[in-house]
Amino acid sequence: MTVLEKVSYLKGLAEGLGFDESSKQDKLLKAIIEVLDDIAMTVTDLEDDVVELSDQLDAVDEDLAGVEEEIYGYEDDAEDEDFYEVVCPSCGEQVYLDSEMLEEESIDCPACGTELEFDFSCDCDECNEEDNQ
Ligand SMILES: [Zn+2]
Repeated sequence: MTVLEKVSYLKGLAEGLGFDESSKQDKLLKAIIEVLDDIAMTVTDLEDDVVELSDQLDAVDEDLAGVEEEIYGYEDDAEDEDFYEVVCPSCGEQVYLDSEMLEEESIDCPACGTELEFDFSCDCDECNEEDNQ
């Protein structure tokens, strides 16, 4: 049940029971139910607005991802991919490498300066055949 439906139910219930216009308590109850009705309608409007805004934000987000891809040449989601972790044999520092660093085949350890060489040879059959030649 939505808030609006709950208040509608409450209104129906109150009307069914009947208001005694001479009773101060009934007047107060009636006023409270009217306020609840207003609040329920406002909340419902706000909920609709939030859904609409959320949809618009998704659209903007998608557009922005497209623009980022144009400018930087990668997709937002691909940013975290292709990271490799190596441990420096000299000092034990964990070093994170992106694919660009891997292409350089070696870097200096940021902690101790030892040159780290990588040999990430591919395990696929094609490359192994080449190695064997
Ligand atoms: Zn090191």
